[in-house]
Amino acid sequence: MEKIKMTTPLVEMDGDEMTRILWKMIKDELLIPFIDLKTEYYDLGLEYREQTKDQVTIDSALATKKYGVAVKCATITPNAARVKEYNLTEMWKSPNGTIRAILDGTVFRAPILVKGLDPYVPTWKKPITIARHAYGDVYRGVEMKIPTAGKAELVFTDKDGNVSRETIHEFDGPGIIQGMHNLDSSIESFARSCFNFALDTKQDLWFATKDTISKKYDHNFKDIFQEIFDAEYKEKFDAAGIEYFYTLIDDAVARVIRSEGGYIWACKNYDGDVMSDMIATAYGSLAMMTSVLVSPEGNYEYEAAHGTVQRHYYKHLKGETTSTNSVATIFAWTGALNKRGELDNIPALCDFAKKLEKATIDTIESGHMTKDLALMTSLENVTTENSESFIKEIRKNLEAML
Ligand code: NAP
Ligand code: MG
Repeated sequence: MEKIKMTTPLVEMDGDEMTRILWKMIKDELLIPFIDLKTEYYDLGLEYREQTKDQVTIDSALATKKYGVAVKCATITPNAARVKEYNLTEMWKSPNGTIRAILDGTVFRAPILVKGLDPYVPTWKKPITIARHAYGDVYRGVEMKIPTAGKAELVFTDKDGNVSRETIHEFDGPGIIQGMHNLDSSIESFARSCFNFALDTKQDLWFATKDTISKKYDHNFKDIFQEIFDAEYKEKFDAAGIEYFYTLIDDAVARVIRSEGGYIWACKNYDGDVMSDMIATAYGSLAMMTSVLVSPEGNYEYEAAHGTVQRHYYKHLKGETTSTNSVATIFAWTGALNKRGELDNIPALCDFAKKLEKATIDTIESGHMTKDLALMTSLENVTTENSESFIKEIRKNLEAML
């Protein structure tokens, strides 16, 4: 069989630990035998980030702006323990945070539904897609430890030198403060990405913040969404028979649990981070969650929603067999390849991506799955595969299909 040709390279962002091992297996078993894979490779593994003082992360985001489509492996976000483990000169920022800040835009995460893996919430029949705002708030926060008594203020100096200030707190003793920001322009593109994605996928859009407590900050999000909706989207939503509604985050959480799914839940940056893990877990597994960052200029970065699966990696290093689920990482590749095919008008590439997704789902539904899924499936006659044999089973199904 002749390999499928590509015209524009994908931006390939390699990563860390167990997912780095899966990354190579996926390429070797499921991609390179079938595609003349064209990528521009960026090594976001922590060692190389350290060597380049994190410049490689910035370069990979700029390459995504240039080419339009990236696929990213999970990466370590350094904490104190990692600084020691990898002998880092600095606690480098989260690569995802850096990339999201450069690309702006919105992250959409949706579970991959498979027969035999039933959500923990019995009412959920359809996927709930989480739209996470990808810029600002606590992720761009500036923090200070307050060592002693004193006054903390919020000060804004405008370009003409006019100053406005607000007391944060009069400290009697040590404490902590944090300053964070967002941009109207970023919230506007977040809103538009969500409204467009809702129209594309014909799903209702929910949005929620804590505007009763945060009367200026969160209220600003609410107002911007409503203004853009009324001015640009209301008629389109009516025509498509879908709905936009705003509610308080507390109410949203309660409604989500009672819902049957099938809508997009737009969340501020932190809410989206936390809630997407909750939703993914409740649908079955973090390893069954797809994730795509869509920028307002129409750039796409596909990844898995889970981390580097450190615990499995240390077993792997000791020579033990692992059973790490590669589904979300495979879907990151298929998402990226399909989008590349759409943009470059290569139907064979789109077709391949869809077949690889189907082969992956068929493999699980036929009873071959990794341990995380085997522990929760309602299917009978299940074979628990290891990291490698699972990918080989998918390859068998894929080859039969091609
Ligand atoms: P994690 O890698 O998501 O793994 C947490 C646990 O979830 C695992 O120990 C495993 O449970 C289960 N799990 C997650 N993905 C799995 C998969 N594909 N197959 C099977 N089981 C899976 O989170 P973490 O251990 O808290 O974080 C590890 C590193 O990842 C951290 O350095 C963090 O900074 C980074 N991280 C990166 C991203 C990203 O790049 N997008 C996101 C989150 C975290 P069992 O051990 O019980 O089997
Ligand atoms: Mg998270």
